Amino acid sequence: MTKLAPPIRVTVWSEFQHEKNNPKVAAIYPDGMHETIAAHLSGSEGLCVATATLDEPGHGLGDERVNNTDVMLWWGHLAHEAVDDVVVERVHQRVLAGMGLIVLHSGHFSKVFKKLMGTTCNLKWRDEPGDREILWVTRPGHPILRGIDDHFVLPQEEMYGEYFDVPEPLETLLISSFGGGEVFRSGMTWARGAGKIFYFRPGHELYPTYHDRNVLRVIENAVRWAAPTPPPKPVGYGRRELGWTESRK
Ligand code: ZN
Repeated sequence: MTKLAPPIRVTVWSEFQHEKNNPKVAAIYPDGMHETIAAHLSGSEGLCVATATLDEPGHGLGDERVNNTDVMLWWGHLAHEAVDDVVVERVHQRVLAGMGLIVLHSGHFSKVFKKLMGTTCNLKWRDEPGDREILWVTRPGHPILRGIDDHFVLPQEEMYGEYFDVPEPLETLLISSFGGGEVFRSGMTWARGAGKIFYFRPGHELYPTYHDRNVLRVIENAVRWAAPTPPPKPVGYGRRELGWTESRK
């Protein structure tokens, strides 16, 4: 008898502000971007999906929720500073302990991403009226790019341009080019402690990006990639039979 793997527990976090305050955004995402993303992931086998937003008590990210999340997605823009430092610390510690984190679009300026990167995470941008974006695959065969051709196009997106001030990534999976000629590293991975991190650029609130099948596929693949593997054994003790000594009491 084969044993079923336990589901990957996913929490889609979004500040959920634009959708409440801007009718143009509400028309694209009536229930919020997080619900659009969560609805897609919920239809995918082996994922157990919940959402959390800024205005919930504790931003919906209390101890129990965070400790029972395997992969968290993070979208923020207007309200980065409104996120409580206690919550940021909780998410940060959980990443170090092995939770996967997928940071979307303007989440590049979130407190938790900046803390994990240790850099300014600044970049160039141009929003209205939007540019054509082509995302080119630079790591064919990577699990996050499963089912993606050698490129895909988003007809209208906000331009993000280099230089993007992040530490050199483990992998650069996608490079975008924009109508204005700028380029950007749109899909990058890092490891922090036992946690895997993926930054994925698209997702400006004024465009229907999270309805795009390629964008949703990358996000779904990234969730599976970022799910933690069993944690390593505690460090500090060598193996006596090999003559190693204890390095820490
Ligand atoms: Zn944006």
